[in-house]
Amino acid sequence: MSLSNYSPRKRILITGGAGFLGSHLTEKLLNDGHEVICADSLFTGTKDNIAAFKDNPYYEFIRHDITSPLQVEVDEIYNLACPASPIHYQHNPIHTVKTSVMGAINMLELAKHLQCKILHASTSEVYGDPTIHPQTEDYWGNVNPIGVRSCYDEGKRCAETLFFDFHRQENIDIRIVRIFNTYGPRMHPQDGRVVSNFIMQALRGDPITIYGDGSQSRSFCYVDDLINGFVRFMDLEPGATGPINLGNPNEFTIKELAETVIKLTNSKSALINNPLPKDDPQQRQPEISYTKKLISWEPQIQLEEGLKKTISYFEQFI
Ligand code: NAD
Ligand code: UDP
Repeated sequence: MSLSNYSPRKRILITGGAGFLGSHLTEKLLNDGHEVICADSLFTGTKDNIAAFKDNPYYEFIRHDITSPLQVEVDEIYNLACPASPIHYQHNPIHTVKTSVMGAINMLELAKHLQCKILHASTSEVYGDPTIHPQTEDYWGNVNPIGVRSCYDEGKRCAETLFFDFHRQENIDIRIVRIFNTYGPRMHPQDGRVVSNFIMQALRGDPITIYGDGSQSRSFCYVDDLINGFVRFMDLEPGATGPINLGNPNEFTIKELAETVIKLTNSKSALINNPLPKDDPQQRQPEISYTKKLISWEPQIQLEEGLKKTISYFEQFI
């Protein structure tokens, strides 16, 4: 335990804190009066994402890859480190597996040493290409164990296993969040995910690249809603392990998303169809009744409002 326990100010470790979600979580925790230590390898995260915090005396950045152990004194850990965009996690798939699995072990060992709470950023990808719709937390998933997405999907599934084994065997206070497609400012403009791609293409007047026929669906959550859910879940009493689905259940086809982005940017971009990536899930929608009840939470920001905020952010890159 750190001495910071003597004050209401908690000292909190965020792995992956220089990434898209991690930087928003940092902002929220600093605004709530806590101290944040960010451990990040800067593989996909950037110093720009954390530039606003660097002069804050309650913020510290450590360049660190979580596949190696880390020793710090903190009261809570949010384990977010892992590339999230399919292009990024498939760039070095072996390292993606190591980040999910060895990273989870290293952070769980740290939580065990410190006897502190640890929240893990899991993903809707643990459901794979789901055969039930919407996806509930008790669904075991439909995942290809040897495909190009497996480094991420199976890595995250194994991380969930490790979290539960540390909980059962070592009595660690764990929280598992299965995040569904989340978007917003500070996504990397070359990130390759659908929201950032479509907005950048629309703002530049480039063709909008729909993979496949665009009939596949996703349910998009605005980042502020997700971060509120993270903190509410972490703040529950011990025993609330999850997993919980965290996302916005409003579901859209990829073609509908493209049309909405074109409308909101007044873009002249054409829609084009590119090949569908291998093992691309056909549909995805979180069932959130368990989450709603557990943490008294539901998304407040719907797609058009969230896209407008995100478009304003991306305009600086044009
Ligand atoms: P991101 O790529 O913007 O952020 C990931 C961060 O982790 C980056 O700063 C990166 O540099 C860092 N990182 C990667 N490997 C690392 C390693 N081995 N050691 C230390 N740092 C490392 O992605 P994001 O969207 O912010 O995602 C954050 C977490 O949430 C990830 O674990 C991701 O799997 C999960 N998630 C995100 C979404 C989403 O829609 N954004 C959906 C499901 C799950
Ligand atoms: N997609 C697309 N065009 C793009 C990027 C992605 O049509 O330029 C599709 C992708 O095939 C998938 C969906 O959008 O069906 C969401 O992709 P993303 O990479 O954002 O996240 P995923 O949910 O697949 O991890």
